[in-house]
Amino acid sequence: MRRILLREGAAQYFSPMPRPTLSPLSNVLREAYSPSRFEFEGQQVLTNVTEHLKQAQARSRASSYPAPAPEEERAFWENPDHQSNGMHALHGRVIAHSNHLHDPRYMGHQVAPVLPVSALTGMVTDVLNNGQAIYEMGPSNAVHEELLMAELGAALGLPQGCGGILCHGGTLGNLVALMAAQRRVALDLGVDSWRDGIHAFPQPLVVLVSERAHYCIDRAMRILGWGAAGTVLVETDKRHCMDVVDLRAKLDACAAEGKRVLAVVGSSCTTSAGAFDPLDAIADECVTRGVWLHVDGAHGAAVAFSPAHRHLVAGMGRADSVVMDFHKVCGLPALCTGVFYQKHADSFLPFSQHAEYLWDNANDLDWWDTGKRTLECTKRMLSTRLAAIQSEYGWGIWGELVDRMWELGQVLAGMVEERDRWELAMVPQANIVCFRPAPRGDLNHDAWNRTVKALRKRHLAEGSGYVVQTEFDGTVWLRCTLMNPLTEEKDLVQMLDEFESFLPSVMENMDGL
Ligand SMILES: *Cc1c(COP(=O)(O)O)cnc(C)c1O
Repeated sequence: MRRILLREGAAQYFSPMPRPTLSPLSNVLREAYSPSRFEFEGQQVLTNVTEHLKQAQARSRASSYPAPAPEEERAFWENPDHQSNGMHALHGRVIAHSNHLHDPRYMGHQVAPVLPVSALTGMVTDVLNNGQAIYEMGPSNAVHEELLMAELGAALGLPQGCGGILCHGGTLGNLVALMAAQRRVALDLGVDSWRDGIHAFPQPLVVLVSERAHYCIDRAMRILGWGAAGTVLVETDKRHCMDVVDLRAKLDACAAEGKRVLAVVGSSCTTSAGAFDPLDAIADECVTRGVWLHVDGAHGAAVAFSPAHRHLVAGMGRADSVVMDFHKVCGLPALCTGVFYQKHADSFLPFSQHAEYLWDNANDLDWWDTGKRTLECTKRMLSTRLAAIQSEYGWGIWGELVDRMWELGQVLAGMVEERDRWELAMVPQANIVCFRPAPRGDLNHDAWNRTVKALRKRHLAEGSGYVVQTEFDGTVWLRCTLMNPLTEEKDLVQMLDEFESFLPSVMENMDGL
């Protein structure tokens, strides 16, 4: 019944319609949320996924990657038979039609064969779904995030007082760190870029980054509004590392041209070649000139956890900001990225609408509402997965992963060098190895490039492994990223042998192309 107040102040009642009452919960919804059903189905899922892991690790399926043509894959999923029969049947089809990263013969992209502990934790956090933007939405993960970012930042070499946030992906993380750097420039100039956008700046801003850097840096500058001119590429040496002499020259040139440097970005390591830029020398240059140093350590910052390899990122602790993907070398599922700042308070620079970032004491800032420092509003319970790794193994497991993957890289490189008529693009510094059969016959440069591409396709079609390709200065290379600690020498030998055995027929088919 609805109550209306009459002018006299007395309540009168009328009842045009009965008060709505709640209908009974449908059977579909009751079943969908049934805990006992969850337990029953969950056991089946666990059995199926365990079986998948067993088969992948035993290399017992024909293929670590089915690699069908996109139209063929599309036709498969358009087939009504492949859309029905419920979740378990679907899971089976998806597993059969996916890359098997746990197969030791998978050496393709920079994606992790997920640590099972992390997958199990993911089930817990998927059910809890305390996606945080503000503290109250996800209290445990907000606090975990704050504590772990300080602890992990220190492990990366950043000084006392560092901190940061977790976000979904290195691309996003790099954008956010560059937003912080841009805001720093605005503060130095005394302009309000939050209000006025890039029009606030009296000069154009640029980043300087290696010509081999990940494309997301260029993309970030375009998103920020600086266009193609926002990225100045620095030359690299023969190992594909940033040439500091050219960096100095480009910094001078930018000053002469009236451009203001937003940041220098060091790559640790580059995606295509696995090259580590000389961060200490770059940091010297940045300190002298008062420029923000950002390190894109999406792939390689994890070497900081390996006593044997952390020299590769010497100087990283001097950076103003560092991005690290936990879903690459560290065994977490995509996506989970840390954006670290040397000064905790700098993590408020990108999105602060008020001047709270000017406060010196980071403890005065509302660190618990992570949404103030991320592009995302709601985000997944990312920190819980990290906390699970820590409590189950400690961070030492990342050092072990790095050591194993990097050793595999060296072993593969040694095999390529030892083989007759094979060549390396460069001595690998990481678990990324670029190589190819040296040109044979009378095929010219372009024809040999096409041969290498065709050879890779032939290997993919065979399905016994997965290798990708890359190109440096017009030369095509095969590219392996050794991400799987279970890969053995025999897998590397088999992969090279297969390429070798396909080469004559591939070359024959190239004739006349
Ligand atoms: C992978 C990678 C990125 C992109 O990270 P995503 O998590 O894939 O968005 C950026 N920079 C480098 C050096 C990378 O290796």
